[in-house]
Parts: sequence; C-alpha cells; structure tokens
Amino acid sequence: MAETAPVALATLTTLRTGAAPERMLRAQTREELVAELRMLWAEGDRVLVIGGGSNLFAGDEPFDGTVVLVRTSGLERLPSPREGYARVRAEAGHDWDALVAFTVEQGLQGIEAMSGIPGTAGAAPVQNIGAYGQELVQTLVEVELLDEATGEVSVVPAEDLKLGFRTSVLKAHYGSVAERNAVVLSITLELADVGSGEHPVAGAQLRQSLGLDPSASASLQWIRDTVIATRAKKGMVLDDADPDTYSAGSFFQNAVVSSAFARTLPPECPRWPVSVDVDPVTVIPLAVFDGRVPPPVAHEPDVKVSAAWLIEHAGIGKGFRFPRSRAGLSTKHALALTNRGGASAAELAELARFIRGRVQAEFGLVLQPEPVLVGVEL
Ligand SMILES: Cc1cc2nc3c(=O)[nH]c(=O)nc-3n(C[C@H](O)[C@H](O)[C@H](O)COP(=O)(O)OP(=O)(O)OC[C@H]3O[C@@H](n4cnc5c(N)ncnc54)[C@H](O)[C@@H]3O)c2cc1C
Repeated sequence: MAETAPVALATLTTLRTGAAPERMLRAQTREELVAELRMLWAEGDRVLVIGGGSNLFAGDEPFDGTVVLVRTSGLERLPSPREGYARVRAEAGHDWDALVAFTVEQGLQGIEAMSGIPGTAGAAPVQNIGAYGQELVQTLVEVELLDEATGEVSVVPAEDLKLGFRTSVLKAHYGSVAERNAVVLSITLELADVGSGEHPVAGAQLRQSLGLDPSASASLQWIRDTVIATRAKKGMVLDDADPDTYSAGSFFQNAVVSSAFARTLPPECPRWPVSVDVDPVTVIPLAVFDGRVPPPVAHEPDVKVSAAWLIEHAGIGKGFRFPRSRAGLSTKHALALTNRGGASAAELAELARFIRGRVQAEFGLVLQPEPVLVGVEL
C-alpha cells in the first residue's frame, strides 16, 4: 500500500483550495488502486478519488476520510471490429491530453477537439467531457469499473453510464450523490483511422470555432494545435504563470431549459440544441391502422443557453472581484471562477453565490455548478 504524507488539496486541485486530509494513498498501478479501494471500503472509510484535481472544488476543512490519488498510466492501441476504426485503451490515471496527443499522432480521429482539457482519462467519463462540439460519449466504447457495492471489477459498456451533458451515473452533482459509486480503472475509445492528411472537418460547432467554412479540410494535428491556441487565449489551458487558469474550467454549466423558458430570455442570449434534433417516428400497429395518419405531436426540444452570457448580462463582467477578495472571475472568460492567489474555498463560494443570485434575480434561472464540490456549500 502506497501511503503518502497528506498534503493540502490546494496543491492538488487547479482551483487551489482545500486542506490536507487525514490520510492519503497514492496508487501507481492498477493492482494498487484496486487493493487500496477494496481495503478502504471494507473498513467503511470515506474515500475521495482524485485524478488531476481539475474538476474539484475542495472545502477549507480537511476531508474526513482518505484521499486516493490515481497515478496509474498506460496507453494501448487495439484492433476494432469496425472496418476503418481502431480502439485505444487508457489507464485511469493517464493524462487526458497526452491521450489526445497519442491519438492524433496515430491518425485516429474523434477526440482531437478535446485537446487541452486538463485531468485524467479515468475522470473523463465522470462528466462526459466535451469541447467544441465533441463529447466523450461519441467515442467511448466501454470502461473498466471497480464498484464499491461488490468490490468487483467489470467491463461496463458506455451506454450503461448514462452519459449526458456534463453528467453520468458516476458524477456526484452538487446536492446529490453519484448514482453508481464506482472507480474507473480504464477507458476504451473507438476512433476513425483517418491518417495524418487533411480531411473534411466534421461538426458545425468545431468548424465555426476554428473559423473554417463547411467545405474546409484540415489535419488532426492542425485541429489540435488550433484548439489549444484558442483555449489558451481564454485561459482554458493550465499555465502556472497565468492566474486566469487557476480555476476548474467553467464553474457553472450552460443551463438546460425548456424552449418555452428560453423564449423568455433576451433573443441575443446564445443557445444551442441539447441533442441532435431528429424527427419523431409515429408507429401505428397494422391491426389498428384505419388509413389515417394522425398529425405529428408537436414536441419542443430543450435548449442549452449560455451561462457566460447570462453572467455578463447580469452585470458581472470578466475580472469581477469583491474588494480585498482573492477570488475573482477570470479576466478572459466569464464562466471561470479563479483563485487569484491564496483564496480560501469560502471566498470562492461567496463569489459563486453572488453570481448565482444575480443571474437568478435577472433571468429567473438558477445556475448549477459544474465541478464536484467536496465540503463546500453554495
Ligand atoms: C482550465 C480548465 C479547462 C477545462 N476545460 C474543460 C472542457 O473544455 N470540457 C470539460 O468537459 N471539462 C473541462 N474542465 C474540467 C476538467 O478538466 C474535466 O472535468 C476533467 O475530466 C477532470 O479530470 P480530473 O482527473 O482532473 O478529475 P478530478 O478533478 O480529479 O475529479 C473530478 C471528479 O471525478 C472523480 N474521479 C476522478 N478520477 C476518477 C476515476 N478514475 N474514477 C471515478 N471517479 C473519478 C473525482 O472523485 C471527482 O468527483 C476544465 C478544467 C480546467 C481547470
């Protein structure tokens, strides 16, 4: 067992908050990770698993239990049963962006638009990470999970994880616990084997973000480099020299609202469909078909609206800070709450509450935090 001297979670999380827990273990291999978790669960200990700490908002009081640091690594290219595709398996602790770099080098298409997202491969399914129109759900085939309930390792198909917009059965959303208490040991992706040349760029959102017209072609490497450069300008690539990146990325999720509610918001507020909008199919059993097809049932899909726009138009601009507070909005992105140096979790939580309250008062909707909150109340 790799017991390690507990250090403050502020040194392990990108939002740079959190005290040292009572106990800390580090798992360098999958065997260590499985053995440590089984032991802790058998002892009835509370466990907090940490990968890159880039989606965690840790409180000022020490976590009352054991922190397990997932430091496993390894990538493997595997054949796919689908022609023209290959699979890549990554150990949970492997750096996500190193995985993306590997797939791009291999000429495998499917996650290049998610370049520059911090954290580990194992945490990627937890909130179904996504950027520029790509989401993990599009390429994830299966994960290996260790379940607390059984202590067993199983191969779980991606469909069983209920991957949705920044959610899955593994995510502990603020105010609730995860539907399935399990730790990801590895993930397996299925990617199109397109090679290193230029190809049409799939996805309107990606093309728009990269300034490409619909007929444009680009290599995976060009997309990766351009995405990283675009993200860096918004403070969305970790950089020790830039306090605008001392964040958990987007602190609030884009809000998913009904179409009717979206119409009450100013028309300038950016909005996108939540999922692919397909025409509903009407099935009429032959036995009851009387020759008439009923008119289609009007169905209005939910809409995702820009939380950054709502924040800025509630009067809270980039760089906003309370006097003397060490917490502030990023000067580059209104969705990123940042630690300007030594801010406590309480200071960041105060800012988050203020923003949420202003948006609610102005637009009538309550923004939900995206990171996992441990020992923090909003
Ligand atoms: C600058 C910046 C930019 C970001 N941009 C994006 C973005 O574009 N898109 C996006 O989706 N996210 C983004 N994020 C959020 C974050 O990078 C992702 O959510 C990432 O997947 C978190 O990985 P992690 O290893 O750091 O997870 P951690 O922060 O270590 O953990 C997050 C949660 O997952 C759990 N967890 C960690 N590892 C495992 C495991 N192996 N098995 C089960 N549970 C586990 C933890 O217990 C915790 O509940 C950004 C964050 C930052 C700081």
